[in-house]
Amino acid sequence: MTMIRLYNSKTRSREEFVPINPKNVRMYVCGPTVYERAHLGNARPAIVFDILYRFLTEVFGAGQVTYVRNFTDVDDKINARAAATGLSIRDITDTTIAWYMEDMAAVGVLEPTHMPRATEWIGAMVDMIADLVEKGHAYVADGHVLFSVESFSEYGALSGRSVDDMIAGARVEVAPYKRNPMDFVLWKPSDKDVPGWDSPWGRGRPGWHIECSAMSYELLGESFDIHGGGNDLQFPHHENEIAQSKCAHPGGDFARFWMHNEMLQVEGKKMSKSLGNFFTVRDLLDSGVPGEVIRFVMLSTHYRKPMDWTAEKAQEADKTLRKWYAKVDANDTSGPVPAEILNALGEDLNTPRVLSLLHEFVSAGRFADLASSLTLLGLVGDHKPEWAVSPDVDLSRHAERLTAARKAAMMTKDFSEVDRLKARLLDAGVEVRMSKSGVELVPGSDFDAGKLEEV
Ligand code: AMP
Ligand code: ZN
Repeated sequence: MTMIRLYNSKTRSREEFVPINPKNVRMYVCGPTVYERAHLGNARPAIVFDILYRFLTEVFGAGQVTYVRNFTDVDDKINARAAATGLSIRDITDTTIAWYMEDMAAVGVLEPTHMPRATEWIGAMVDMIADLVEKGHAYVADGHVLFSVESFSEYGALSGRSVDDMIAGARVEVAPYKRNPMDFVLWKPSDKDVPGWDSPWGRGRPGWHIECSAMSYELLGESFDIHGGGNDLQFPHHENEIAQSKCAHPGGDFARFWMHNEMLQVEGKKMSKSLGNFFTVRDLLDSGVPGEVIRFVMLSTHYRKPMDWTAEKAQEADKTLRKWYAKVDANDTSGPVPAEILNALGEDLNTPRVLSLLHEFVSAGRFADLASSLTLLGLVGDHKPEWAVSPDVDLSRHAERLTAARKAAMMTKDFSEVDRLKARLLDAGVEVRMSKSGVELVPGSDFDAGKLEEV
């Protein structure tokens, strides 16, 4: 069995990963708030944790990993978008979820086992909040229900800060009804213009953090293996999830491992609308960058390092993938994944190391290992991507060689070399057009650059 060591943000160290139940490895990842197209940064956690999901499935077996990634479809940003556009909230969230599914599929992200929408789990959230009030961890004030951070001595442990430090450092929302400025909202009142549900505290809606605590409990139980998300979520979101879940279910561990991806930047700068370097995954796909190229670039930086998206990296990735796809035989894609690849992934998902191993496989002619590894990484599906097989490949070298052979044959009257070259080009799916003015090579629909390499 592959040794798996993962960096656990909770203990700030790399630890051996042993699942609670190897027949049901459980992971939860905070998904998007759905009111606009996913930007390139949002694709990073989706891809990173998709790699983890695929890797765990490879190690523990198909169907033995339960992966939950939620959709936050109740949020004040969504309400604001609805007010600004006149669209209904349901239209906005349904459309955005459909976009997200499309865009993530385009970058090779598999569907998680469950994708709960917050609005479908309001009952579970109300139950959890009521339980927290009853246990003395939450209080009702001015139509709100607030979590009392002082009631949980471990508050701040994940991010390594004390409550006093947090108050000093954070921009906390001060409100007269809060006992402590760090107390956070579990439930808040809704007026008639915003979505609301009936509750013991009147018509209202949940605060952001409670959805992940309630849905992970319902779908994964009070102790599960891995919780993931971007490191911008560590505080306050994950800190608050821990407080809620541990206080509601003191017998459980909540998440054993916490994993956080670092942020994505663009050409060395923070991606932001005001800098004009903000783009969505769809913008990039529409500009002609294939999903596999986006995925490859994401894997070329370790998930715990800040990653820089550059046009140059995308071009490099495009070249490398074309070269690699030319070596992939479709018959090899479902073969066994070499141990080196699994071991590299077992070292805290060392994807840059995996990519350098693939370069070594190519140099060593280990094309079957290349194919099975690319499949595990989600870079090859049922077939090779169209963009890489209908090229762009430079056929001029082959045209020159055929021209020279033909010239020689005119003198010697021996056309065997011409026929040989022509036959192999045809076999590789290249249409050969010869006329007095020269040779023209046109790749056909069944063109296979891999075969051409041998000509
Ligand atoms: P949001 O919809 O803002 O809650 O974000 C969805 C996911 O994307 C969260 O896991 C965030 O941590 C992550 N995320 C947002 N911006 C970036 C970024 N620039 N780089 C990497 N991850 C990001
Ligand atoms: Zn969450």
